[in-house]
Amino acid sequence: MMYLWNYVDGTLKEASDGGWFPVHEPATGEVYAMAPDSRAEDIDAAIEAALSAFSAWSTSAAAERSRLMHRIADLMQTRLEDFAQAESRDTGKPVWLARMIDIPRAIDNFRFFAGAILHSSSEAHQTDTIALNYTLRQPIGIAGCISPWNLPLYLFTWKIAPALAAGNCVVAKPSEITPATASLFAEICMEARLPAGVLNIVHGSGENVGAAITTHPDIAAVSFTGGTATGATIARNAAPLFKKLSLELGGKNAALVFADCDFEETVETVVGSAFSNQGEVCLCSSRIFIERPLYERFRDAFVERVRELTVGDPLDDSTRQGALISPQHMEKVLSYIALAREEGGRILCGGERVQLEGRCAGGAFFSPTVIEGLPYNCRTNQEEIFGPVATLLPFDSEAEVLTMANATRYGLAASVWTSNLTRAHRVAAALQAGIVWVNCWMLRDLRTPFGGMKQSGVGREGGWEALHFFTEAKNVCIKL
Ligand code: NAP
Repeated sequence: MMYLWNYVDGTLKEASDGGWFPVHEPATGEVYAMAPDSRAEDIDAAIEAALSAFSAWSTSAAAERSRLMHRIADLMQTRLEDFAQAESRDTGKPVWLARMIDIPRAIDNFRFFAGAILHSSSEAHQTDTIALNYTLRQPIGIAGCISPWNLPLYLFTWKIAPALAAGNCVVAKPSEITPATASLFAEICMEARLPAGVLNIVHGSGENVGAAITTHPDIAAVSFTGGTATGATIARNAAPLFKKLSLELGGKNAALVFADCDFEETVETVVGSAFSNQGEVCLCSSRIFIERPLYERFRDAFVERVRELTVGDPLDDSTRQGALISPQHMEKVLSYIALAREEGGRILCGGERVQLEGRCAGGAFFSPTVIEGLPYNCRTNQEEIFGPVATLLPFDSEAEVLTMANATRYGLAASVWTSNLTRAHRVAAALQAGIVWVNCWMLRDLRTPFGGMKQSGVGREGGWEALHFFTEAKNVCIKL
């Protein structure tokens, strides 16, 4: 049995009360590791370590923080395969996907903010001939970073990299479902000689460790990615303490396919946008609107491609769909298939558990599912399923598709597929989503603002937005 550890004050530690929780491999259903079942006392110790480290770290030269962050990125690169194997084992995602996307992106997150901090600047405002104002952007103090299970290291580093680059110390909690790569990351930080207390990683449940972070008076800012319901709880907990909050929450993303799109490329990319990572990406398209003249042709080609997505062992390079994160999550997905049937949907492919043989016989595998015949406002088309399920809906006009696409409480991402540039601009502007892709999906530039509207979130990550979130702006006014 493998043991994972907390990383507090520069050393690896077990939970203060000696408790452990089991870590499962979704592809086999087996417990393969134990992680510290930490409590509020462990968060107290982490915050104490962070407070002790803050003075030196926050006043260190940006170039020194940048150098250390590049060193961490270099070390991650040397252990890329270990990280990819650990991520795949913890999440059930294909190992090739972790190797090609998750881990390289985690490395890029560190490199990006290590560079950005050397190029940051702030504003100056001259008030006629009377005064000169300049803005100081100072580290905020101790930041709490809480991340989910679907892209564990990718999203964990997306938070801690800007927080550290800006001169904060961090107390971070990965999802209890996927603690492995954060644990490996702690080893890298020790090897890179990150000063003790600058980053602290505490494993445990949201109820114990997450809540302790969001209610602790010494945590000045909380950056959270996860479900909308958890985001609401965190907002309630943090509000009386006036913490700065960044919330990246759920989505129910629309793809708008117009009849003049590049057909082959659109089918290919929209299949990827719906089923990448088993549909367990907040940005996945789950509602696909197709202009009526193209509907049947698109549907048939789409379903044919989806049927070709091999469900299999995440270790096998030919696997396109690995395991869902847990049997409980699979039950949730199944309950939505039953709901879709009740609501009058026709299952065009998938819709059931896949039973594999051998090593993966106990895994949570599910066939990628396409459904048609549902109204845009039914529950299946309104609630986040967060699995390999996409619905197809025809539309007759631009106005109609915008009404349907915008008719959810979410507003994270959308994609538009058309060769009409004027329409692309018009539709992009009218969509209620924080991120709109035109003729592409998941094409990311880390400088751009990233986040959701409506109940998909509050605030933006990425580029200067992240560095601004993790700093406090102070205006200094000098009378001339
Ligand atoms: P989740 O259940 O909300 O959990 C997210 C994190 O919050 C986990 O670390 C969880 O800990 C912790 N947590 C749970 N309850 C808490 C509490 N009361 N106080 C503080 N922390 C608490 O979400 P998930 O199931 O891991 O992730 C899936 C969701 O994340 C989906 O809704 C997806 O759309 C969303 N997501 C959004 C984005 C985005 O950028 N907008 C990106 C990825 C995922 P435990 O795991 O230990 O319970």
